[in-house]
Amino acid sequence: MQNDSPTNANARTVARASEALAELLDRPLAAGLYLVATPIGNLADISLRALAVLARAPLIAAEDTRHSRKLLSHYNISAELTPYHEHNAARERPKLLARIEAGYAVALISDAGTPLISDPGYKLVREALDAGLMVTSIPGPSAVLAALTSAGLPTDSFQFGGFLPPKSGPRRTRLSALTDTPTTLVFFETAPRLAKSLADMSAVLGPREAVIARELTKLHETLHRGTLDALVTEIEEQPVKGEVVVIVAPPDAENAQVDDARLTADLKAALESMSLRDAVRAVTEAHGVRRAHVYELGLALSKSDDT
Ligand code: SAM
Repeated sequence: MQNDSPTNANARTVARASEALAELLDRPLAAGLYLVATPIGNLADISLRALAVLARAPLIAAEDTRHSRKLLSHYNISAELTPYHEHNAARERPKLLARIEAGYAVALISDAGTPLISDPGYKLVREALDAGLMVTSIPGPSAVLAALTSAGLPTDSFQFGGFLPPKSGPRRTRLSALTDTPTTLVFFETAPRLAKSLADMSAVLGPREAVIARELTKLHETLHRGTLDALVTEIEEQPVKGEVVVIVAPPDAENAQVDDARLTADLKAALESMSLRDAVRAVTEAHGVRRAHVYELGLALSKSDDT
C-alpha cells in the first residue's frame, strides 16, 4: 500500500463506502419509526445509515415533501412521501402509527437537520412509544451542534433555547429567565429578526461574548464573533441573509469582557435618575463586576461633570 497513488486510495475509499452502503441496503428494515437526520445545507452530510433507511422505508413523512424530494432525488430514492407538519400533524399521526402497527417502517425527516429539534415529531414519537412501537434515531446533522462546536465558546455544558419569541416583550422575559444560567446558550433565529433579537440579548444578558453562525455547511458559511453589543452594531449596519444560530457565552467573569467605556456609559445613564451610590450598585449588579472599580469610575465621572 505504501506506493499507492492518491487516485487508487480514493478509489478504494469509494469502493469500501459503496460496499458498506450495499451491506446496509441488503438488510431488511424492521417495522418502526425512524427519526432520520438530513443535511442542513450540504447534501453530502448524509450518513450511510440515513441513506439506507430512506432507501428502504416504504413511507417517508416529511415536513415539506417538495423540499425533501430534492434530497431524495439527489440520491435516487423514490419512496412514497407524505406531509407531516404542524398544521396536519394531529390528523396524520394516527395514520402513521397505524402503518407502523401494520408492520411497516416509517421514516420521519424534517426540511433540514434532526427531526424534533424545533421541528415536528415530538408527539408522534411519544405516541409511538406509548403504543409499544419501535422508535429509533438515525443521528446526523443538526444546526445546534454544528454551531456550538464551531463557535469557540465553552462546550462542556450548554442550553438550547430554540427560537426566542418574535416580539421584544416576551423575548426579554424569556431571556431574563436565562441570565443566571451558567452554561453557553444556543438560539435559533431568523435573519430578519436577528438585529432586534441581539439587541434584546445584549440588554438582558449583558456584554457577553457571542457568535452568529450563519449558513453552516453552505457556500457562504460565516462566523461573526464579538460581544453582544458589538454584534448588534455590526448586524444593524450590515444585515445578514440566510440561516443563523446565535451562541452566547456563559455569564462568567472570564467570558464577560466588560470594558470601562461600557461601565462608564451605563453609569452615566443611571446617574440621570439615581444617586451615585444607587447607580454604582445598579451597574455593579448588572455586570457582575467589582463594586470598588465601578465606584472609582463613578467618582471620576462626577468629578468630570463638576469641572
Ligand atoms: N431541526 C433542524 C436542525 O436540527 O438543525 C433545525 C430546524 S429549525 C426549524 C431551523 C433553524 O435552524 C433556522 O432558523 C436556523 O436557526 C437553524 N439552521 C438550520 N440550518 C442552518 C444552517 N445551515 N446554518 C445556520 N443555521 C441553520
